[in-house]
Amino acid sequence: MIFSPVFQGKRFAVLGLGKAGLPAAVALKEMGAEVFAWDDSAPAREAASGLTLKLPSEIGLRLDALVLSPGIAHRLPKPHAQAQWAEQNQVPILTDAELLFQAVRGSRSLARFVGITGTNGKSTTTALLAHILDAAGIANAAGANLGPAALSLPLLPDSGVYVLEMSSYMLERIATLRFDVAAMLNLSPDHLDRHGDMAGYAAAKRQIFARQDAGCTAIVGIDDVESREMADWLETRPSRLVRVSGKGFHTCGAKALPGEHNAQNAFAAGEMARALGVKEEAIAAGITSFPGLPHRQAEIAEIGGVKFIDDSKATNADAAARAMGCYEQFIWIAGGVAKAGGVESLEALFPRIAKAFLIGQNAPDFALSLSQHKVANDVAGTLEAAVPLAFAEAQARGINVVLLSPACASFDQFKSFEHRGEVFATLVGALGVPA
Ligand code: ADP
Repeated sequence: MIFSPVFQGKRFAVLGLGKAGLPAAVALKEMGAEVFAWDDSAPAREAASGLTLKLPSEIGLRLDALVLSPGIAHRLPKPHAQAQWAEQNQVPILTDAELLFQAVRGSRSLARFVGITGTNGKSTTTALLAHILDAAGIANAAGANLGPAALSLPLLPDSGVYVLEMSSYMLERIATLRFDVAAMLNLSPDHLDRHGDMAGYAAAKRQIFARQDAGCTAIVGIDDVESREMADWLETRPSRLVRVSGKGFHTCGAKALPGEHNAQNAFAAGEMARALGVKEEAIAAGITSFPGLPHRQAEIAEIGGVKFIDDSKATNADAAARAMGCYEQFIWIAGGVAKAGGVESLEALFPRIAKAFLIGQNAPDFALSLSQHKVANDVAGTLEAAVPLAFAEAQARGINVVLLSPACASFDQFKSFEHRGEVFATLVGALGVPA
């Protein structure tokens, strides 16, 4: 099946030619639109061969929408000048997932849409639901924030299901997209620079349920206060409401999904599959056979009785807490660019840390917090230094887990959290290999 030329006669500007923007520009053009593309970086513009390059404000023609990359702000902390221009000129600012929805409906497919959001667990739950649907033989296409980008997904038939991971940045930019099944997993402080405060962040997340009616299902995690408030609000809405909790479940039975948080993810994915008509046995089989995603508590090696866990995706303290709660005692590798509050919120988990090796920009702050709580730690500086030190410490003290769960963003020392995880795996691979 291919998309119809649904955007014939429409004119779009695409700003930000990265992982989402470039495929969006190409797809919109293929679907008949006149497309103008721009990126502030010259190398990104050079990579956009075959596209008409122009700043949105200089196109000089009426635009139907500005497709703005999720990473580019349109309000806080400071709007990009082009986004400001669009708002002043009543040009709608949209995300690619919105245009995918329009393209699917415009191509006369009734394929269902599932949207998944939350501060943590989005990618895991998205990949898990896609895996359950695959195992149940239901045609599906998963992506959006997790990748592949929304507008590089194929057209699905009426029986198909789109499984879209939606960030808060994307949810601020939808207009007609309605999710037949939507899940909001949890809320903890993150991205507040972009949303102003927790209320602004929650308001963006709430958009996942926009336009849902009586035939739709809303799934909400209830393991934190803000999410419980959202559940109360959903009670007043026409959609069917399902509350999910992972509390008290140390495992959901799947090796790749350890911990209460993953139990919550598994229950959410299971409820979504159920709402889509998947049979119980197929749901259970899909959950147990899920291989897991890289960099999310992935066990990458066991050397001399020491397991190395790559949880590089834990870019905030709340995410790190989930992994830390799964191991009784461990050597911790953490640090990078910390979020507000640092590691203070992890205090209850400190007794589990046999010793911490700290890396990156915020290593000295973390060291101070840990020392104040009498947790043994060393500032190793880099992952290259931390990995052999952690291994030696684990062996010397008979600790069987080395956990990389940084509670920090990676961009001070790495290209991305994926890069950080890959470097970790390479360094672990080199342990025990004679130099
Ligand atoms: P996201 O796509 O929302 O960033 P991921 O599935 O990639 O989420 O998981 C990121 C990190 O968040 C993982 O390393 C894990 O420790 C933590 N995490 C996963 N699921 C949850 C959850 N339901 N609640 C809290 N933390 C979670």
